[in-house]
Amino acid sequence: MKGKDSSIQEVFLPEIKSKGISLFLKREDLLHPIISGNKYRKLFYNIQVAKKSGAKQLVTFGGAYSNHILATAGAGKEFGFRTIGVIRGEELGVDLEKTLNENATLKQARDFGMEFVFISRSEYKLKNTQEFLSQLQDKFKDCYILPEGGTNDLAIKGCEEIVSEATANFDVICTAVGTGGTISGIINASKSSQRILGFPALKGSFLKAEIENNVSKTNWNLESNYHFGGYAKINEELITFMNDFYKETNILLDPIYTGKMVYGVLDLIRKDAFESGTKILLIHTGGLQGIRGMNVLLEKKGLPILANIE
Ligand SMILES: *Cc1c(COP(=O)(O)O)cnc(C)c1O
Repeated sequence: MKGKDSSIQEVFLPEIKSKGISLFLKREDLLHPIISGNKYRKLFYNIQVAKKSGAKQLVTFGGAYSNHILATAGAGKEFGFRTIGVIRGEELGVDLEKTLNENATLKQARDFGMEFVFISRSEYKLKNTQEFLSQLQDKFKDCYILPEGGTNDLAIKGCEEIVSEATANFDVICTAVGTGGTISGIINASKSSQRILGFPALKGSFLKAEIENNVSKTNWNLESNYHFGGYAKINEELITFMNDFYKETNILLDPIYTGKMVYGVLDLIRKDAFESGTKILLIHTGGLQGIRGMNVLLEKKGLPILANIE
């Protein structure tokens, strides 16, 4: 069984038209109300294998606002697994009710039945070690362990399905990059004549090698100038951009990934990085649940907040 597919819509912006570029958005964010965007793709085959193997619980890792944590909690509820989220930041576990009051991501994950294990940042660094993983296996019998961000071979296989017949006519396909799993799937399933551009949401040069491990094609590169200072860092310029984009298109972007990617693509168009006549497809990988958490932080800092659906 394959995953379902999402729709493609054209995005109309005056500054694009004058450059002769056409821009489209693949709405992976609409695939599922909770298991949003690329996290649906990444979980799809993992859930099937977990079911077959007889696993009763899904264990995974993430930060306190993680899209992957919430998607896993939602998948557990929908497909009948107990879920355990190993969360970075032991201080969050000291007063759980207070944490849940302040953090809509964890609150919703808990409402879906997820149980949390809060660990320190130093312990979290050990999460991929054999010792840490076997401790989890002992503690949670019959568990299926998903890595941070959900990236493994089955996740990449799921992300290959973002690319389909409907995407075959595009010259360029653009996506946000976190761990690199999503772009790896897109590259694998792309045509060699297509160019795949990744926009890392975080600083660091390790990503290129990571992606090279997963793919055999060379029709891709990373645009590394649009991380806005690092993972989950945003500034007033990005906020204004995202709110203007929403006003013009009625499409919400998330502040961690897709906002930075779309900003980057439009900046490249402005700088004439693409020839006139180029058809560009942007992948909306979802993540809109993160807007709420970001707005709480922005309000604390006295910055303008992001448009959101209420
Ligand atoms: C997790 C996530 C990404 C990054 O995906 P990777 O496979 O880790 O590169 C991109 N966009 C959104 C909205 C995400 O939630």
